[in-house]
Amino acid sequence: MADHTLNDEQAIELTALLLKNLREALFDSRAYLRPADLQRVADAQAQIFLTYLDSRDAEAVRRHGAYLCTVGVGEQAVLRINRTLQRFGLQRLTGEELAGFLEQVDEYQRRVVEGYIAQNTTQILEEQERIRSALQQNLQRYTLQLETAAELARTAISTLELGSLLTSTVDLIGARFGLDYVAIYLLDEDDRYAELWAATGAEGRIRLSARHKLRANSGNSVGKCLASRQHILQVLRSEEQCPPSPSWLEDTRAEMVLPLITHGRVIGALSAQSTRAGAFSSQDVIGFQIMCDQLANAIENSRLYADAQRRAEDLAHAYDQLKELETLKDQFMQNISHELRTPLTMIRGYAEFMLGGQLGEVDDFQRDALQVILRNSEALSDMVTDILAMLELSATKVALSALSMQDAVQDSVTGFQIVAATNGVALSADLAPGNGACPVMARPDHLRRIIDNLLGNALKFTPAGGQVHVRLWEREQRVYLEVSDTGIGIPVHFQERIFERFFQVDSSQRRSRGGAGLGLALVRELVQSYGGSVSAASPGVGQGSTFTAILPRAPL
Ligand code: ADP
Repeated sequence: MADHTLNDEQAIELTALLLKNLREALFDSRAYLRPADLQRVADAQAQIFLTYLDSRDAEAVRRHGAYLCTVGVGEQAVLRINRTLQRFGLQRLTGEELAGFLEQVDEYQRRVVEGYIAQNTTQILEEQERIRSALQQNLQRYTLQLETAAELARTAISTLELGSLLTSTVDLIGARFGLDYVAIYLLDEDDRYAELWAATGAEGRIRLSARHKLRANSGNSVGKCLASRQHILQVLRSEEQCPPSPSWLEDTRAEMVLPLITHGRVIGALSAQSTRAGAFSSQDVIGFQIMCDQLANAIENSRLYADAQRRAEDLAHAYDQLKELETLKDQFMQNISHELRTPLTMIRGYAEFMLGGQLGEVDDFQRDALQVILRNSEALSDMVTDILAMLELSATKVALSALSMQDAVQDSVTGFQIVAATNGVALSADLAPGNGACPVMARPDHLRRIIDNLLGNALKFTPAGGQVHVRLWEREQRVYLEVSDTGIGIPVHFQERIFERFFQVDSSQRRSRGGAGLGLALVRELVQSYGGSVSAASPGVGQGSTFTAILPRAPL
């Protein structure tokens, strides 16, 4: 350890070195001190050193120099000081000393920082305000993006036509964000081209009328976005003159292209352009992508709707054609039926004439033949009447009057007694004697067709020795007519189908009884046209059938 009193030369050299260290250490702490303060501290310390120099007290110089040099303390500064002290045989800084110094240094720095803050409060407040308003602006922009997305969703619900949907979308986004150009490209069917579907402004109109399109796999911004399924942000550097993308307008300085993705499939892209290079930030992408996702779904819905509409139109067209055919068919059947009426009347008339003997005597053999002619022409005539009634039913609506169902059934039963007797079938009726007339609102001829068809069928499908029973009653504002027989019955799975037009249960036993399968269809259509219903029940083949027709009771 060297003597603590330094000679002049040593004192000057040590002071010079420590001052150098101090400058360097202060330079390290420039973050806390302004250049002017740095200079002031350095000068002041130099003065103090000169005082110490006078006393030649090496220890005092060491302490004060070391302390000052730790002002900007760092590993390098400590090393430098220790090296200098070593060179003069002075004691190196101990850990404790360093900690003591550092405490003072911390205090010193705190004061400096506080002073800095006090001096710069206005500046700091301004900075805080700047950050706050930047954040607020970002928030406002994001809110605007979300609001626009919501408005887009509303537009999508009310606009199902694709062209109008896309046009209102580009207009809305362009106006809301003050953009100079917004365009929507959609991929064509084989994904080869991205076609321009909607674009804002005059330039947009020109491009749309020129059917502007871009190759989907090209290196331009739209192509890149479609291929990568990612947004593309392009900004023109100030020295660049030509637009870097064919989708750009002449004055565009910044473009943001976003993919339109629905059900995991890219269907197109939206390009937003501005004449300001800093128009888009990477934060804008989030809000714009939400809008584009909404839009992609709306496009999908609109396409589905268009598809459904096309199908509906095809169906409507097919239905019209079918209706036309149906009318033609009805017309044809009506004509034929009318044409058949006159010759049938003539045949029946002459057969009756001959049976009556007016055209000369007829023997038994001839009588039988004439009766066959009469029976069959009557059956044919009934069929023609059914056909005409059915056609007329769908064509006209006539005024109705209240009729006694009891009278109508009674007449019919009386009329069929001869047929029943001829067939060897017992026909009986229970027409609700104490129950009133069972009035219904109907046309008399319609009522007659309903009763006659049910009764005629019962007699037709009941072999000799069987029974047919008719019941009539009313309950809860409804009139019930039930015709039951002990005849051949109806298989359960046909009990609903026998009411279809031209349907007949297929068996030789039934075929031999003639008919066209129209009678029950007419009964159901007539009954339903009066707000009623009809049903068939049969335990099975050979076990008889029961038909029940229900009609609303006419108000008294
Ligand atoms: P059609 O009697 O002229 O064939 P319908 O429409 O009156 O036509 O009857 C349809 C079919 O329903 C008949 O062909 C017959 O098979 C069956 N059917 C109708 N009424 C009865 C009945 N009372 N008993 C058994 N089968 C019947």
